[in-house]
Amino acid sequence: MSGQSRFTRPKLIDAVAAVRLDSGRLALRDGARGRTALVLHVGPAAAAALPDLLDGTRDPDAVRRALAEHLATGDPDDVLRRIEDAGLLEDGAAPVTLSDEQARRYSRNLACYAAEAAGRPGDATLGSKYDVHERLRASRVLVLGLGGIGSNVALGLAMLGVGTVALVDFDTVEVQNLNRQVLYDTAGLGRPKAEAAAERLRAVNPEPDYPYLTRRVGGTADVVELIERFRPQITVLGADRPVRAIDRWTSAASWQTGVPYITGTVNGGYGAVWSHFPGRTGCEECTLLGLRDRSAEEYEIARRREAEDILPLTSALGFGAQTVAGLIGYDIYHHLIGLTVRSAGVWLRIDFGTFTVDETPQPVHPACGLHIAGTA
Ligand SMILES: [Zn+2]
Repeated sequence: MSGQSRFTRPKLIDAVAAVRLDSGRLALRDGARGRTALVLHVGPAAAAALPDLLDGTRDPDAVRRALAEHLATGDPDDVLRRIEDAGLLEDGAAPVTLSDEQARRYSRNLACYAAEAAGRPGDATLGSKYDVHERLRASRVLVLGLGGIGSNVALGLAMLGVGTVALVDFDTVEVQNLNRQVLYDTAGLGRPKAEAAAERLRAVNPEPDYPYLTRRVGGTADVVELIERFRPQITVLGADRPVRAIDRWTSAASWQTGVPYITGTVNGGYGAVWSHFPGRTGCEECTLLGLRDRSAEEYEIARRREAEDILPLTSALGFGAQTVAGLIGYDIYHHLIGLTVRSAGVWLRIDFGTFTVDETPQPVHPACGLHIAGTA
């Protein structure tokens, strides 16, 4: 491990539990991945000592020397290399940027970040768990529409500690919202959703900023103005009216500003998630043109629904909104910390009865005016 470890003070990540077994074996249970990562045959003395030696207070040489004293058989370097290669170590010397209270508030998140980083040996782009947290704390997300999806996503972002969660909705809280829109309550019926949402999020986590606006968007320029005002790294489209137009406006605004957006839908039996990234994926017009290619009739239905703003009554359980919002939330998290965004350029559909997911690519369409113009 000396000279080979990438850690100044190797430390078992918090999601690992050491379990001592008979015959001097030590199992390292990887809680972040829900499996036993390693069973080491090191002898009773080393099995007892190893977790303490890897508490992040010793340099690799000190760990190796102490382990050599306890080891029944074998090479301490080999034991330590196996633990590191299994993605179970972080650096106990990483600068701590959080207060004690913050470290407790975010401890379960930090355990995920440490496991994510440890699982990528050789890839130092994530940095320490504190680096990941600081990246999220420096991030800004715009939530446009605070219904079933938007309210659940906003709550998750607040709990993640995303620095700015900007909230926009024109509506007030109605009793039929309360089956799935987690930020509101019976006492708040009639309140503007954006205001009620900001208040609830501050109560959950007072650290982030929650600027809010009670506003109805009426076109692409309005969405551009919101993006320029709040300067998000990504927009969540959680509004479904006016039908289809809101998708086209958000898509056009995304291409004008270069800021991607992610959205979804929830119905009684299934949910869907997709996202559009300027320069990397098709846009909403591309999607509509793809629909025209597949079915002239479906295309006509879509255009007529937009022209007449026809939306069936929402059919959605709270679980459906939470599931779709959860998938959207994971992809926002991936985007903000630089990991692969699963939904970019694909339509992911999850069946709530079978839990199966299928996907339909949403490529750039050759006839899309936006893409022909070379703006992306
Ligand atoms: Zn396009």
